[in-house]
This record gives sequence, C-alpha cells and structure tokens, in this order.
Amino acid sequence: MVNVLLMVTAELENLTGLQPQEGCDDPNFPYYFKMKCTNCGEVSQKETCVMLSETVPLPNGRGTTNLVQKCKFCSREGTVTMVPGRGRPLMLEMGQSGKYAPLMVFDCRGLEPVDFSFGQGWKAESTSGTKFDDIDLSGGDYSEYCEKGEVPVMVSNLQAKFESVK
Ligand SMILES: [Zn+2]
Repeated sequence: MVNVLLMVTAELENLTGLQPQEGCDDPNFPYYFKMKCTNCGEVSQKETCVMLSETVPLPNGRGTTNLVQKCKFCSREGTVTMVPGRGRPLMLEMGQSGKYAPLMVFDCRGLEPVDFSFGQGWKAESTSGTKFDDIDLSGGDYSEYCEKGEVPVMVSNLQAKFESVK
C-alpha cells in the first residue's frame, strides 16, 4: 500500500485561498485522473473520477473504498481510498514562490493516480475580501474582476503533482 498526496499550485493574481468549494474535504469535489497499474505499468486510457461521498464495498467485503478498478491489460484489481484531513488552501504567497498546497491523500493498492485534471467546483477570495465561487479551472485558467478592490483577479499556470507520503 502506498499513500499518495496530490499537491497543486498556480499563479494567483489578487486572489488567495484557492480550494474546493466546500473546503479541502468537500464531499462532492470530483478528482479526475488516470490510473497506472503498479503491477504491469499500464496507464488507463480513460480518466477516472473519485469523490469522498462516493464509496463502494472493498473486494474482500471489509469496509468501503472510493474506487475499485481492474487493469485492462493484466486484469489485476486495485483500489483507491481517499484519506481526508490533509488538504490546505493554496495561498497567494505560496503560488508566488512556487510552493505547492496539499489537497488530498489517496491510499492506493495496485493502482496509482497520474495526470490529475483540474475541473470545476473551486473557490477563492480576492485580496479585498470578495468571494469567488464555482471557479471552473477546466480551461486551464480563470479570470474575473474584483469590483471592490478594482483589480483583475486571475488563476493561471496550474500545476499538479503526486508525492508518496506516510
Ligand atoms: Zn496491469
């Protein structure tokens, strides 16, 4: 078993606290990525979606997980279980200095997530305190205007990586 931490960063302009709409442990925030089989190394062609509120029984019948997927190449079955409680919002200064914010831990058995895709359902706050909801990052960036601060707000240069953690 391997615990994999998804970390994200972006360039934020006059925006801070980028995170899923209901916080880092948002039960309905979808994570899209491809799955690599740790047995044969095959990467799934289709993206898989997992979210905290969607669970399935474990193959051994003991408890639940968020994903059970069979490798199309070697037929080995793997599971991915989300581990909430480790996520932190991406703050403006972190993005400026190229630091990553931890988002979610995945307990992976037989599968490893690769190629995270940014999608919808993010929120952030302008430096003047205006809340921006339902930010869609699927196009790769986001720009709006903050009336209160009279400044443009922007998210760009999205980056994600997976790291093994304990
Ligand atoms: Zn395989």
